[in-house]
Amino acid sequence: MDKKDLFDQITEVTRNTEDLLNKLHETQSAMTEIMEENAELKIENQHLRARLEQATANEHENEHTKNTKHGLSKSLQNLEKLYASGYHICNEFFGKHREGEEECAFCLTVIYGDR
Ligand SMILES: [Zn+2]
Repeated sequence: MDKKDLFDQITEVTRNTEDLLNKLHETQSAMTEIMEENAELKIENQHLRARLEQATANEHENEHTKNTKHGLSKSLQNLEKLYASGYHICNEFFGKHREGEEECAFCLTVIYGDR
């Protein structure tokens, strides 16, 4: 192998190493993003579980008073509250955050029925 070949080879190895490092950094930031998202989802999930437990407890407490002055049962009111705090309560997207507080026809049907 002459000196020129050797030099070319070093240049190529250097370039490949740089490529690899860039990819490594990209992967690292993607990983960080995923971990952050995961942490957020964990908190959101905890939050939802707590609310659901609360809603279920309230429902048991108020089983004898099915309908309130608003015409919604206690459990529906709790779902309404959950919906109002920005979460889906429909079967389709239950527990997901409503993007930009957009209205969801599925959720509204769950709360208010097909009226
Ligand atoms: Zn929904």
